[in-house]
Amino acid sequence: MENSNMKFCPHCDARIPAECEVCPVCGKKIRPRLGELTDAQIKRIRRPITIVLCIVVAIVLYFKYTR
Ligand SMILES: [Zn+2]
Repeated sequence: MENSNMKFCPHCDARIPAECEVCPVCGKKIRPRLGELTDAQIKRIRRPITIVLCIVVAIVLYFKYTR
């Protein structure tokens, strides 16, 4: 048995094969990657969004004051 290919079901905490999309124990669907996102990964995604937002706000303000 290879432990590295196992994961825990987020619904019933049963040990199931990592490639399973549906838990064989409780029968619920397992989201492949969304549930595995850590806080650091979420911050990494949010950072570029805030930078883009700042640029958009800067452009809007620029056109507001130049007209
Ligand atoms: Zn389960």
